[in-house]
Amino acid sequence: MTAWETIIGLEIHAQLSTESKIFCGCSTRFGDEPNGNTCPVCLGLPGALPVLNRRAVELGARAALALGLHINNKSIFSRKNYFYPDLPKGYQISQYDRPFSAKGELEIMTAERDQAGHPVEWKPKKIAITRLHLEEDAGKNVHEGLPDVDRYSYIDLNRAGTPLAEIVTEPDFRSSWEAYDYVNHVRRALQWVGASEADMEKGNLRCEANVSVRRIGDEKFGTKVELKNLNSVRFMQRAIEFEVTRQIGVLESGGQLQQETRLWDERAGETRVMRSKEEAHDYRYFPEPDLPPLIVADEFVERVRSAMPELPEARRRRFMDQYGLSFSDASQLISERSLADYYEKVAEVSGNPRSASNWIRSELLRELESAGISAGDSPVAAEELGALVRLIEEGKISGKQGKDVLVEMFKSGKTAATIIEEQGLVQVSDTGEIDRIIDEVIAANPQQLKQFREGKETLFGFFVGQIMKASNGKANPKVVNERLRNKLQIS
Ligand SMILES: [Zn+2]
Repeated sequence: MTAWETIIGLEIHAQLSTESKIFCGCSTRFGDEPNGNTCPVCLGLPGALPVLNRRAVELGARAALALGLHINNKSIFSRKNYFYPDLPKGYQISQYDRPFSAKGELEIMTAERDQAGHPVEWKPKKIAITRLHLEEDAGKNVHEGLPDVDRYSYIDLNRAGTPLAEIVTEPDFRSSWEAYDYVNHVRRALQWVGASEADMEKGNLRCEANVSVRRIGDEKFGTKVELKNLNSVRFMQRAIEFEVTRQIGVLESGGQLQQETRLWDERAGETRVMRSKEEAHDYRYFPEPDLPPLIVADEFVERVRSAMPELPEARRRRFMDQYGLSFSDASQLISERSLADYYEKVAEVSGNPRSASNWIRSELLRELESAGISAGDSPVAAEELGALVRLIEEGKISGKQGKDVLVEMFKSGKTAATIIEEQGLVQVSDTGEIDRIIDEVIAANPQQLKQFREGKETLFGFFVGQIMKASNGKANPKVVNERLRNKLQIS
């Protein structure tokens, strides 16, 4: 494998989160009665004229800015001609030689993974973005869940005319994990600024990968294969891995690769041929005569930019500077905007940003993950977790008690204070009270005390354990350690 280099380029289609379609007023709502959200424009009836949705342009601009791309002041809509049953006009309105944004560059963080799938070392990598353009989606052919599907195909045009941003990269990726980290980066950026829900399982973010291999040192690219049906980022990564191995196998056994489109079959764990690839010029692109050029003024771009939230990378930097977090801790907290917002609230209320980070990353995220929800939907409000962290920091309850309290808060929705009161979970930090227990425990274990005096220092832990037990786990372990050390040295 080391004699080969993997070359990957990616195309992402992201549905922009508008309420209505890109060239008509029909709703984009998902799951409505099939063909209910249609009109002469998106049905492609003769004489119907498209009108551009301003909100789609605004969200397209948000998407471009979130990825650090430049927006062209003038772009042109073109017709991409092809016949397919779910495309009633016989062409798709897209952008071709004058796209919304072109020739950009995006820096991502990426890491190879070890055998267990854990990232090895995160490094920055620059990816050249060929273009980001706006276009309409096609409808959907339905082959399941309706009568006589063995004889008929059904067509639902509710999706026809839904606005998309298509984002195309240069063939800059050299491994499946780089592609994986890139798609996650783009997904988060689009979600972060509200440009798209970018949920691959719902189909509002779709991804295609162009994969080829070449011998290391070769200038020329190998024959590329387009991979489709990648319904999650993980599926995409696995599909690329499979495809790379398959291509190297064909070439090493003296065979030749076909330029073709292959589908990923997750159950079988393999790709299979869908169709041989048509060339770009087959589409006979020409400018859309029913739409004027799209003019985007600089002021418009600045207005969009100023309405956007602080972007993930800027926020990571601020978390490191302002709260003293490590790169990897800050990276985890900006993995989602709702989590970053949540963290800042907990940091503020608890008065201890680093403890807040530790509690969220080790305790809260585990609960959220097992419940399958995001921080924004956490049953424990950020203010409440902040209050809990503060109680622990102040020594009112122990860290161990705090963990149990958080689990209970998560389950019952009660506040930390209520649970602590109900369960009588008060941590004893009073030195008089703790000294009394220490005296009792020492008096009850003369044999161990003798051995300790003779140099068996490990018995210190035995005494701490006995004291904690005698206090029913309520003694503050830090105070116990201090007072016990004191006592054993002076008595
Ligand atoms: Zn319509």
